[in-house]
Amino acid sequence: MAKLTPITVAHGDGIGPEIMEATLHILKEAGARIKIETIEIGEKVYLRGNSTGIEPGAWESLERTKVFLKAPITTPQGGGFKSLNVTTRKMLGLYANVRPCVAYHPYVDTLHPAMDVVIVRENEEDCYAGIEHRQTQQVMQCLKLISQPGCERIVRYAFEYARRNNRKRVTCFMKDNIMKLTDGLFHKVFDDVAKEYKDIENDHWIVDIGAAKLADTPEAFDVIVMPNLYGDILSDVAAQIAGSVGLAGSANIGSGAAMFEAIHGSAPRRAGQNLANPSGLLLGSVMMLNHINQSDIAELVHNAWLATLESGFHTYDIFAEGKSKEKVGTREFAQAVVKHLGKKPKTLKTVAYKSAPKQKVKALKVPKIEKKELVGVDVFLDWTGGNGLDLGKKLEAVKGGLLLYGISNRGVSVYPKGNSNTLTSDQWCCRYMGKGVLEYTVIVKLLSKLGAAGFDCIKTENLYNFDGKPGFSLSQGQ
Ligand code: NAD
Repeated sequence: MAKLTPITVAHGDGIGPEIMEATLHILKEAGARIKIETIEIGEKVYLRGNSTGIEPGAWESLERTKVFLKAPITTPQGGGFKSLNVTTRKMLGLYANVRPCVAYHPYVDTLHPAMDVVIVRENEEDCYAGIEHRQTQQVMQCLKLISQPGCERIVRYAFEYARRNNRKRVTCFMKDNIMKLTDGLFHKVFDDVAKEYKDIENDHWIVDIGAAKLADTPEAFDVIVMPNLYGDILSDVAAQIAGSVGLAGSANIGSGAAMFEAIHGSAPRRAGQNLANPSGLLLGSVMMLNHINQSDIAELVHNAWLATLESGFHTYDIFAEGKSKEKVGTREFAQAVVKHLGKKPKTLKTVAYKSAPKQKVKALKVPKIEKKELVGVDVFLDWTGGNGLDLGKKLEAVKGGLLLYGISNRGVSVYPKGNSNTLTSDQWCCRYMGKGVLEYTVIVKLLSKLGAAGFDCIKTENLYNFDGKPGFSLSQGQ
């Protein structure tokens, strides 16, 4: 008997159990060589008082199998419930979120019949690093973290994905005209890595106009790689304009583990009625089969599913009078897919996974070490005593050993130059520079002088030059 690959399965909430049952039925009939371990996640676990939505024992199965097929769950609103998706991604180090968004014209209505886009979203960094602080009465802060190895890993993944899946081009979306350091790093790494993949075209778009182009002319794109937040938003947009969120599957890939799911949620209003479309989860499971080296079964299931779409057996969400042949429920749809096992689509593009080489991810480069020199400090104050000019005058009176270079509020310069139209909050960024390279102790001395003068220093950010180039942004108007 063929060796079975252990996988961990969670049936989830709402429509989850129905679509999981349908998916597992198809996988079994297709001969998937898997051994299922079931764990409980989601609403029941949350409501038992576990704020993570997953029992500690379930991690043991996930850590052992390293392959997770997950149905959607309901996250109770309010309370201190954490997103199980974010927790799982972080615990298992799932850095790449891959979402193919494909149109199935003429069988599923879409304005974009030729759409066939794969979104590769960075899954761990950016605003999702979860580093947020309340600093003053009026100001909350969320840190956007972008790292060189994080960028390199996701960009490499996107190019390797393109190569393995016979894709022609990888496009980068970012906003480095504004976020010159963070998105600038993403862009730079993209350009560097792209040079190693001469067989694959590359280009880049500023995310706002890129998003507009994607929504309007998605057929102009092939694989798109982007940082976390843009990817989160645009992968839903892409799935929806392809035809339906109910049709898209998603893979979350890490170096040691992976999670596969539908992109939609638990649709509680449709639960328990044998109505839901199991296609998103089924396509997630196809990605899982490829991941566990069962591309023969992945190909069999995917082609049977395409042939079923063509046959006109459609669940309510994609059913169209005159186009579809029969409106079917979740179970009947699954039975139709099983009947089509071994068949290939006639009009839609047949998929061929069997011969695809295994996706490689090269070891990350060791970046060049640049000379790092401390040249100044941004001191953030919680202060409500007047405007920027008032604060500037008061700070000039404190002789702290460093030059007060300028003050900004919400990123806009308010001292020495300012504008009376600028709305200011109670958080002020006061930039101090020295003459040449500084000793760390100079900053400590400055802070103690400011403290003694009654200022509330809420945080500092050291200013470094790297190989002589500033590693910090200027404020607007500076
Ligand atoms: P949703 O995706 O669950 O459903 C929105 C609507 O889309 C549904 O009312 C339904 O009309 C349609 N729909 C979605 N999937 C369908 C399918 N397979 N077949 C047919 N129709 C389908 O979004 P929501 O209503 O905003 O969220 C419901 C719950 O799901 C929330 O608790 C949310 O937190 C959770 N959620 C979970 C995940 C996940 O587990 N990965 C993802 C998103 C949302």
